[in-house]
Amino acid sequence: MPTDPRETAHMPRQTKIVATLGPATASPERLDAVLRAGVDVARVNFSHGTADEHVASVARFREASARVGKFAGVMADLPGPKLRVRLGAARELRPGDTVTFSLSGDPHHADDLVLTEPEVLCDVRGGQRMLLDDGRLQLEANAVTGTQLKATVVVGGLLKPNKGLNLPDTPLTIAALTPRDLEAIAVAARAGVDWVALSFVRGPEAAADVRAACAAAGLSVPVLAKVERPEAVARAREIVAAFDAIMVARGDLGVEMPLERVPTVQKALIAEARAAGKPVVTATDMLDSMRTNPRPTRAEASDVANAIFDGTDAVMLSGETAVGEYPVEAVTCMARIAVEAEAHAHESGAGHGAGYFRPEAGIDDPLTLCVCQLAREIGARAIISPTLSGRTARLIVRHRPNARVVAVAPTDAALRALALVWGIVSVRMSPTAFGGDRLAAAVRDSFRAGVVAPGDLVVLVAGYPIEGGPHYPTVRVVRVGPHGEALEPGR
Ligand code: PEP
Repeated sequence: MPTDPRETAHMPRQTKIVATLGPATASPERLDAVLRAGVDVARVNFSHGTADEHVASVARFREASARVGKFAGVMADLPGPKLRVRLGAARELRPGDTVTFSLSGDPHHADDLVLTEPEVLCDVRGGQRMLLDDGRLQLEANAVTGTQLKATVVVGGLLKPNKGLNLPDTPLTIAALTPRDLEAIAVAARAGVDWVALSFVRGPEAAADVRAACAAAGLSVPVLAKVERPEAVARAREIVAAFDAIMVARGDLGVEMPLERVPTVQKALIAEARAAGKPVVTATDMLDSMRTNPRPTRAEASDVANAIFDGTDAVMLSGETAVGEYPVEAVTCMARIAVEAEAHAHESGAGHGAGYFRPEAGIDDPLTLCVCQLAREIGARAIISPTLSGRTARLIVRHRPNARVVAVAPTDAALRALALVWGIVSVRMSPTAFGGDRLAAAVRDSFRAGVVAPGDLVVLVAGYPIEGGPHYPTVRVVRVGPHGEALEPGR
């Protein structure tokens, strides 16, 4: 059974791994294996599958996380206005052919193509590109006449059912959330997820829309913006500010924008998220060849490491774990690459996107920076933060410390949401009498969870008392006793 290097190496893995669930990760044995190999967050792709399948797959993942003893998170990935062609059977499109799209969803002719959101085509103008199946097939729009749009095939090929349509030249006016997204949110609420990701975000306003839709469905979780449209890249700073996290969704980004811009856009987006202290996921094609091969290419290994050097919080697997032949090997391999890249970044002092950090006014950033420096100077094994929401732990990892950062929180929901954030180890807070010493209790909880051992030096930091009311930034250094007690550190 592959083992998560997080459990064996001296320094645990700090970059988080998101894995897309699918038929390749449906069985309990596979789920246990990928969790042990390193999966921190499962992504459920609502663009495929039925409501009952999604609910069942989240339940299976929860059961596996409990068996493996891990606070793993679940992310519901909503389709957003991702256009797909509704097609009964595959169809050959030849260069020069004229293709007709129905704008009403009610085709005049059996050959007319219909989209999941046909009304979007009203925005298309003559001469604009229409890219099918991740850009493999290319059409040029002619003109809208009545309830039809005609387009000429420029690059042909076989169009299979349910393939996506990208309109990189067309400013879209469709709402950020489609009826399909609202249905998906209801299912995500029923399944009980920890994150909601919205596809094809174009502006910061979408954050309020998705939060309101989640609240209406009784779901109170952080929301992530998938950045894959040129408008979103242009407004990245506002989007980062409005959402709780972002994803560099390189699959659609590489179709919507010139491919050669993807690496620099990736760096810029990671820099924006890091500067704001929000988690960022780098996604798509990371170990793509592992769908059919037990080993990745050298270029793929470098791609994962370079995303870590750019400063990403998490790296994501898509088809590799959803439908691939080697899902466990892909996670194991990604975890190994991450551990090696992190060691290099820590040793060299470069990488991890350290230069991107922009301290904010106030005392939180200087305080957490000092805590990281203190931990390094004294060789502390861990920085432990008792917290309600995980905020202090998130502020600490902005500085990319070379020490375990342990968030000790009272709710499973807070702990599972932190599974996406670089470097945070989640530990359940045991009940402590109000006014009790929560700092000492957090050391005991971390000891019980196996995160710290007798003799370890640890730095504690919290807004104290954490229950609320006036609370004072507090730093304490202790040595872990034989039974997890917080002892005087000695000199
Ligand atoms: C992407 O486009 O990179 C992405 C993650 O989104 P999806 O897999 O839903 O296309």
